[in-house]
Amino acid sequence: MAQHKELANSILIVDDTKDNLNLLSKMLEEKEYKVRLATKAKLALKSALAFPPDLVLLDIHMPEIDGYELCRRLKQDAKTQDIPIIFISTSGETFNKIEAFAVGGVDYITKPFDIDEVILRIENQLQLQAAKLEIQKLNQELEQRVQQRTIQLQQEIVKREKAQEKLFQIALQDSLTKLPNRNWFIERLNQEIEKSHLQPDYKYAVLFLDCDNFKMINDSLGHILGDRILQEIPLRLKPCLIENSFLGRLGGDEFIVLLAELKDHQEAIAMTTKFQQCLADSFAIDQRDIFLNFSIGIVFGDQEYQQPEQLLRNADLAMYRAKELGKGQYQIYNQQMHDHALERLHLETDLRIGLKKQEFFLEYQPIISIKRSQLRSFEALIRWRHPKKSLISPGNFIPVAEETGLIIPLGLWVLEQSCEQLKTWQQNNTHPLPIKMNINVAVQQFYQNNLVSEIDRILAKTEITPDCLNLEITESAIMHNTDLASKTLQQLRERQIKISIDDFGTGYSSLSYLHQFPVDNLKIDRSFINRIQNTNEECKIVEAIVNLAHHLDMTVTAEGIETEIQLKYLQNLGCDYAQGYYFAKPLGTRAINNLDFVANHNFVFSCDL
Ligand code: C2E
Ligand code: MG
Ligand code: MG
Repeated sequence: MAQHKELANSILIVDDTKDNLNLLSKMLEEKEYKVRLATKAKLALKSALAFPPDLVLLDIHMPEIDGYELCRRLKQDAKTQDIPIIFISTSGETFNKIEAFAVGGVDYITKPFDIDEVILRIENQLQLQAAKLEIQKLNQELEQRVQQRTIQLQQEIVKREKAQEKLFQIALQDSLTKLPNRNWFIERLNQEIEKSHLQPDYKYAVLFLDCDNFKMINDSLGHILGDRILQEIPLRLKPCLIENSFLGRLGGDEFIVLLAELKDHQEAIAMTTKFQQCLADSFAIDQRDIFLNFSIGIVFGDQEYQQPEQLLRNADLAMYRAKELGKGQYQIYNQQMHDHALERLHLETDLRIGLKKQEFFLEYQPIISIKRSQLRSFEALIRWRHPKKSLISPGNFIPVAEETGLIIPLGLWVLEQSCEQLKTWQQNNTHPLPIKMNINVAVQQFYQNNLVSEIDRILAKTEITPDCLNLEITESAIMHNTDLASKTLQQLRERQIKISIDDFGTGYSSLSYLHQFPVDNLKIDRSFINRIQNTNEECKIVEAIVNLAHHLDMTVTAEGIETEIQLKYLQNLGCDYAQGYYFAKPLGTRAINNLDFVANHNFVFSCDL
């Protein structure tokens, strides 16, 4: 066939009869095969091993080594073992076909040669051989490809396994501190719950740690330093861990500890104290010494617990209780905490409804000028007429309103309402000194960015002059963000709106802010006035506050005056203004309208000043 001729297949003819050799070689050369000849088996073997032909025509009967033997030897060597061998036999000769095929021959031709038959048989074998080689090559390629693919797939599997491991880590590990995360704890707490169901005596505890001042650190030092502190905290806590205790991070500045296999509750308390001691030292970050306070909630596991979330929630409630009680301490969970939280939740819902349904109203408490015995101002105090619980005092709902942000709409309503009321009173009043209005402003409200523009709007609407407004804010509100506070206070000062520091003496300990900020008046907290029973030691604080205010060109208001003695004492100190049940309780508008002091301002003290 054309294909093998193009490739010029080489054929080795081995025959001891020269005539046969000549005849065959002539025939094949005419067909353009490359022909090599050998008359002896040994020579043929040498030649075949040196240059393996594509096919061998092999005479059976040769002296020394016959065709069968040569065939065997060719089949033994890797270089020649696949070469197709066609035996040559002479008709009439004994030719053992079985042996010929057994030693590896593939065909035979018989003398005298029929040229077409010989060529056909040779071509047939060459093609068969070519096909075999092709298959072999394909198999090799295939094998190589399979191997390559196998390696690729193995690498892929390793990669996937690593990714899987990473996912597993992400799922159970906190990325910042590398501590176990909430998911890990949920799983672990499930095991604790199961154990306590099986062994009634089994004891374990969960500690919930929350940093009290972390927001301030993040706000003032930035998140990068904040993160570094969060990484330092576990380094402090880990050495305190006892056997079978586990530390994790729930998120933010919240850490959690599981104390498994507890001997007794005292062990958990001892550990909490140890934590507090370890955390008390300053954290040296970026050449600064930073002090952190932690509130810790403890919950003891018992058979009642069915879900890990209940444990976390109760530990959290205990932690919040610790915060409420003054931070930097620990509290052990009890049922009242849960009831309290539930009550708070209801209060929050009711507060939202109350705001929509306008269940709030204002009462006003007179503020008197001691020197003039005259009404000077009113403090607007909010009240809530709850549909089911009757009257709720601000002390009970203002903190919830602050936590939920509802203080913003509520505070705005107070501002509008009290200014409207002031306008009415000013219009009905002929006294040369206009009555003023003191309005309490909560921290969030003070820092809301449109506070000043809202006040401008209300002033424009009610047409009252700004110097009739006196905003009461607490010391801690100012210190919350002194930069922003300074800006807002400056804007209020430009409008001549007055600023009072409410509950003075109960908040921030540093007095340096009084120099920096434009403050007009200090309201001495009721708790100090309370102590004035007669001239005793405690009253020195009141005296000091009055002196301090006057030295700083500020006026002073005493809150919560209930007795004549208190009033007299304050008058002697030169206190400017007074407010308290001694003069009047906070009153509704109708009650105030019925009193003549609003019209003539004269406030007749029952005592002789
Ligand atoms: P505050 O601003 O210090 O108000 C004075 C509180 O002392 C008022 O309590 C008032 O009723 C009470 N008080 C006045 N004189 C006497 C007295 O002689 N004896 C006694 N025992 N108490 C006296 P109230 O109305 O319960 O308000 C409590 C706090 O709630 C206020 O303290 C203020 O911080 C807050 N609050 C009230 N209304 C508002 C408001 O509209 N907005 C904001 N943000 N807070 C408000
Ligand atoms: Mg006040
Ligand atoms: Mg006060």
